[in-house]
Amino acid sequence: MRFEFASSEKRSVLRAVFEEGDGTEGQRAEGAGRTIIYSGEDIEFDYGVTAVHPDLLGLLCLIIFYPFVGERVVFPVPVSPRLEEAFRNPNFRRQLSFDNVDSGIEAYSGSRMALAFGGGIDSSAVRTMFPEAYVVHEAHWRDGRLVPAGTHGVVHSMGLDRGRVVATNQRYVSEPGGWHGWTCSLATALLLATDHDFGIILMGTPLGGTLLKAGTGYFDRFRARGWHGVTGNFWQSAFNAVGIPVFSPVCGASAFLTMGLSLDLIRAGEVFYCTEQGGQACLQCPKCCRRDIIRAVVEPGHRPHWAPYDNRAVHNYLSQDPQSQGHLFSYARPRVGGLPRFIRARLKGLQQIRSDWPMRVHAGTFDFCDDRWRPAISERVLEHLDPMGPEEIAELETWNGARQARGLGAGRFARMLRRDS
Ligand SMILES: [Zn+2]
Repeated sequence: MRFEFASSEKRSVLRAVFEEGDGTEGQRAEGAGRTIIYSGEDIEFDYGVTAVHPDLLGLLCLIIFYPFVGERVVFPVPVSPRLEEAFRNPNFRRQLSFDNVDSGIEAYSGSRMALAFGGGIDSSAVRTMFPEAYVVHEAHWRDGRLVPAGTHGVVHSMGLDRGRVVATNQRYVSEPGGWHGWTCSLATALLLATDHDFGIILMGTPLGGTLLKAGTGYFDRFRARGWHGVTGNFWQSAFNAVGIPVFSPVCGASAFLTMGLSLDLIRAGEVFYCTEQGGQACLQCPKCCRRDIIRAVVEPGHRPHWAPYDNRAVHNYLSQDPQSQGHLFSYARPRVGGLPRFIRARLKGLQQIRSDWPMRVHAGTFDFCDDRWRPAISERVLEHLDPMGPEEIAELETWNGARQARGLGAGRFARMLRRDS
């Protein structure tokens, strides 16, 4: 695959020229690897770059087009051996050969923090702790039209010296739509990095996404560094390798803690986590239900209107086995007064949590951060959050979101759920 890149005052365009061996059908670079079909559209951004370091541009090409690359890659300008080395990590399913590599290219480095800002609770928690981070929010073009989102107004109102909305079609250039991998959420920050002197990209992925396999069981990411590289994730490690490390300051903190940190911004109407009701939270979907349960734990005065959650989608969501984000529900169940019976009953059989690890940060996760940034970032986070103790960490490590029938047969368990709901 050969890449071309052009930038004018207000626009940047990235084009992939397909060659023999490349294919417009690929696998999404994460999760179950769903099949996606590339439309052939150029990737456009409504931001014109003044400068972009060759390795950052090369990485941008790969995070967007990796699912469709065959073997050979030719970048718009030569890249350094650091990028090539990062993609030799055997976790990448295909080993690519880079055509234009120049060992004389100096390593990228920058001095400012950026925040890849989604606008939801977790990235708002990072925004609260790191107000100095330059906020970059991706707006999406779909079929030539801007997809409306409340976060656009939030970031516009910050002013261009503190944050910027960058519109692009990258999320919808394949069918079915969606980013090709989680690192695509970093693409706009990567594009702006050289111009803005970004030295690190912060993001808001909480504990459930780093050590808990979406809350279904413990994942030893510390051990995974042995084959994933310093960050415990091979894609994330590729960013570190080219001098623009990526780190989530809340990767050791549960969604209870990110909720607590975001409360002021939520009350100010600056947080958007569900947009089903004309851009606002619908207060009846599983996501809204989870958010209300989480908020009821950290804000005892919060009295959600539970009745609209008594619907099929929520019941199905709360009957998963293993239960996604199960640790949050386990912890909340005995601690939220007034949780209705139809929710309590669904959460039966989840492993109990006796200590308060969901309310503390796992300080070991700062090891996933680049050395140069670690002291300042860990110090800041620990000004806001208390660290887990050894016993809390031990309980976290045994967390399992599988349903425990406790001697009940599956049929009897199902009947119990039906009776209770
Ligand atoms: Zn909703």
